[in-house]
Amino acid sequence: MVTAMSDSQKVATEYIDTVYNNLKEKHGHEPEFLQAVKEILYSLTPVFAQRPEYMEASLLERIVEPERVVKFRVSWEDDHGKIQVNRGYRVQYSSAIGPYKGGLRFHPSVNESIIKFLGFEQIFKNSLTGQPIGGAKGGSDFDPKGKSDAEIMRFCQAFMTELHKYIGPDVDVPAGDIGVGAREIGFLFGQYNRIRGAYEPGVITGKLPRFGGSLARKEATGYGCVYFVQEMLKEINLSFAGATVVVSGSGNVSTYAIEKAQQLGAKVVACSDSNGYIYDPNGIDLDTVKEIKEVQHGRIKEYVETHSNATYTEGCQGIWTIPCDIALPCATQNEINEEAAKTLVKNGVKAVGEGANMPSTLQAIDVYFANDVLFAPAKAANAGGVAVSALEMAQNSMRLFWTFEEVDQKLHVIMTSIYNNCVKAAKEFGHEGNLLIGANIAGFLKVADAMIAQGVI
Ligand code: GLU
Repeated sequence: MVTAMSDSQKVATEYIDTVYNNLKEKHGHEPEFLQAVKEILYSLTPVFAQRPEYMEASLLERIVEPERVVKFRVSWEDDHGKIQVNRGYRVQYSSAIGPYKGGLRFHPSVNESIIKFLGFEQIFKNSLTGQPIGGAKGGSDFDPKGKSDAEIMRFCQAFMTELHKYIGPDVDVPAGDIGVGAREIGFLFGQYNRIRGAYEPGVITGKLPRFGGSLARKEATGYGCVYFVQEMLKEINLSFAGATVVVSGSGNVSTYAIEKAQQLGAKVVACSDSNGYIYDPNGIDLDTVKEIKEVQHGRIKEYVETHSNATYTEGCQGIWTIPCDIALPCATQNEINEEAAKTLVKNGVKAVGEGANMPSTLQAIDVYFANDVLFAPAKAANAGGVAVSALEMAQNSMRLFWTFEEVDQKLHVIMTSIYNNCVKAAKEFGHEGNLLIGANIAGFLKVADAMIAQGVI
């Protein structure tokens, strides 16, 4: 029996090696994409060992290949009348369990590798939500920083003029991500409707509630992350009440993670943007952060102008040297490397909850596990945003609106059930307590079974 098990494990590992190495050969120049694939594939070993029919159906070869990659030119005119050119992307990764769904990221670092890693993660994240949504991601290397509202509008219009050909309420439903908030969603939606000559709110999510958006969508990723971590903390009889928390970022995810953590009694002492971080030993004044980021679209260093007890430090890495009980990386990919993880451990961190997508390197994750730090992986912990996007789609289809409390309550239920499903899958496949493996397996199984049931797709 033991030998049979290790044989099947061996076959599964060889299969995964083959798929991963083939991909590595073709995409050696796409490190983020390979990182995301590696993290998921190898945690599926026990699944393939138990279910060889998945190997026979070439499921991995199929799932790592996006159904479609769209890459396009975006020409737009800046305020000086100069024509600027950016590159746009939409990766439609998997439609096995629903229409393609995932955000748009506008950031100078965007390239095919970044969009593919995000799109790949999105398949499993969306599956975990229990909502009928496939996986996709898109964006552009456009940098919204320092652009006027008029420039942002012209860029969004130019972007949608191409993107509209590939999306629709039952086809592909984009939303926001880094650099794409309510303002950008409004411009994108307006242009889509103008081109289509119809009002189709279900084509995009993250809209303002006054024209078809869902209440609590803005809060959903941050709140959801805290709800997930709250469940996880129960394992060690800990809670947010009285805990010291460091949250990186100061965008949508970070802001509402801070808000919920504070509501639950935590002291959040730091947050950041891509230039640097602020440390406020008295606890972050969230109203100030909201005013700077949401109203002024300014930089986080302005915080110290009104809070003399707080300090601002240039550069982002230092935020992980601040001692805390709970770290919530809510900024961007690979923001916690091995060294930062070791520093967190040395300073006594008890739990890490990922609000951003893939914020920990593979080496950082190894450090958490080696030191018994509770770890809430991104695709489970930050699934609240896209989950409420799916609720927004549902409300749009029904042409009705739920109250903030109704949506927030549904979000809470979804996050708790994601947590429970991760715990259950990890246990069932022999990795009790490992939420990373649990999330990957639980997310994968639903998509895999849908693919098998639909034949060769
Ligand atoms: N960009 C978010 C994510 O990473 C939200 C996507 C959505 O709402 O479609 O999940």
